[in-house]
Amino acid sequence: MRRRRLPVGRFLLLLLLLGGTALAFRQGLVPPRYSPLPALDLDSPGFFFVDWQIAELRRDAELCSRVLVPPHIEAVPIRDNPLSKGCGWTNSVRVSSLGGAGLPVDKLSCQAAAALALWMAHEVQPLAASMLGQRVASVQHMGTYSCRNIVGNPFWKDMRSEHATANAIDISGFTLENGQRISVLKDWTGEDQEALFLRAVHQRACRYFRVALGPEFNAAHRDHFHFDRGILSTCR
Ligand SMILES: [Zn+2]
Repeated sequence: MRRRRLPVGRFLLLLLLLGGTALAFRQGLVPPRYSPLPALDLDSPGFFFVDWQIAELRRDAELCSRVLVPPHIEAVPIRDNPLSKGCGWTNSVRVSSLGGAGLPVDKLSCQAAAALALWMAHEVQPLAASMLGQRVASVQHMGTYSCRNIVGNPFWKDMRSEHATANAIDISGFTLENGQRISVLKDWTGEDQEALFLRAVHQRACRYFRVALGPEFNAAHRDHFHFDRGILSTCR
């Protein structure tokens, strides 16, 4: 009896199509009008596809201005500075506050700003209230845009950092409403509430950012969290 051959060619083609579609959504290459997903809404922490919904903001300035609105974020669009030698920014915003906390940055990509707003509103503020009995009044950072390569990792040293396109932010600490400062450098280790809070908010950032690195990743990150919306995916 002749055995039926598995349609391997067709199966591979289907896999390729599915993989290509997923990649296109992940990289924000599908225009929002063709997307079956609802547009991102900062009122909700989102569900399974929140990463793809954030990615839709990458190229769409009109969608960006509809999504980045108070009360979860105070932000205004800035003029594009198209890429030159791997550095520059497009579809980016100037931010003054997120999730009710002051966080002034002069340039941040729309999708990184949306991820930061979701993290602040739905993770950081509720965790601060439940673990520390206070809300966060302001967030300290060590910069967003910087025209440079990745530092601290010999394998990626020739690659531009996501900071080179304003698609990343380095968070160094938080100030609570009562004035108490919590710093990644001083408070990360130990078992007190401040250390537990820092570890919890770092872990929750992985839901909205593709890369979320902290002091346990390497020595270059001992004093800050690095969050970005690039192509890589790491949470350490
Ligand atoms: Zn960084």
